[in-house]
Amino acid sequence: MRLEPEIWTAEVVYLGFGTPMLRGGLAVVGGHVAMTGGLEELQHAYPGAPVVHKGRALTPPVVNAHTHLDLSRLPYFEGPYVEFIRHVIANGAGRGVEAARQGLEELRALAVGAFGDIVARDAVMDWLLEHSDLPGVAYREVIGPDPGKAQDVFAALKPQFLAWKKREGRVKVGISPHATHTVSAPLFKLLVEFAALEGFPVQIHVAESPEESRYVRRAEGGFVEFMRQMKLPVWNPPGVSPVQYLADLGLLGPGVTLVHAVQVDEADVRVIAQAGCRVVSCPRSNRGLECGEFPWALYLKHGVEVALGTDSRGSSPDLDVRNEALHLWGKADPRVLVRSATRGGYRVLGLQTPRITRGSALSQVQSW
Ligand SMILES: [Zn+2]
Repeated sequence: MRLEPEIWTAEVVYLGFGTPMLRGGLAVVGGHVAMTGGLEELQHAYPGAPVVHKGRALTPPVVNAHTHLDLSRLPYFEGPYVEFIRHVIANGAGRGVEAARQGLEELRALAVGAFGDIVARDAVMDWLLEHSDLPGVAYREVIGPDPGKAQDVFAALKPQFLAWKKREGRVKVGISPHATHTVSAPLFKLLVEFAALEGFPVQIHVAESPEESRYVRRAEGGFVEFMRQMKLPVWNPPGVSPVQYLADLGLLGPGVTLVHAVQVDEADVRVIAQAGCRVVSCPRSNRGLECGEFPWALYLKHGVEVALGTDSRGSSPDLDVRNEALHLWGKADPRVLVRSATRGGYRVLGLQTPRITRGSALSQVQSW
């Protein structure tokens, strides 16, 4: 261990609180942080200490706020969203505990601070509650497009959710009604009301692809063909944007995190902000599945807390959210990206953001 002081700096230094610094740094002595602050201030306090450039960012451990660990064996796919859904269904056999174990190993190797995972199998939920040493939220995914079956689906799930809640440790239990087009309106309401009552956090995929907007607005496009192929009912469309549809159902509130929310206009972002929802963006997945670009400036303007996620290995080459931020480096304000990769994620998952202060161990500092 090096005992001589060094000054670490990066393009952006974020301590987990306050504003990320563009000319900031950390004085490091003996494996610990001895001082934080502006670069000049640190050089004044530690004259002669070498300044070490650590890259793009120095931050607390990052958070992957949205992934699907049980899809970690899904071959990587690029192409239109509807084709991706077919790809997921076609490769369903590789889904399960082994894939989730592989995904959790990857997150551990990346030293993430926490994770938000969408869980499609009960066995995976059981396994994560038992075995994950990383903190996070495992959101059990619910799919149920037939409104006539909403009560039965919910009645079967309710005791299961309550039983899992009793087993919470490092991993908390959440609920993920999958998306606008795969969950009926009555089932959405039952799930979100139950979640609010019992304190389950919620994640919903919404406004991901242009095709979803076409389906919700006019029941047109690739989703119609897909629903017919799957022998699922094509609905009478609500005729509004996907975000407005969820708002009209009374689903939006501070306990609900919206995933993707790419296909939005300013009215949608205002609705999200007023409801107090947070948002998780998965930029590389959105690019690969031809879903569009996340409007960072609009969300910033309306003060919405944004986190970063990778989505599954099926649409992301790895589970490292730092690569999501680096993918956008130079296109969006890097201070916003750094905050989203850390604080945004902890906020989504209901956790405190770790702070880098005098005395922090270097294991609590990530360089990108
Ligand atoms: Zn997802």
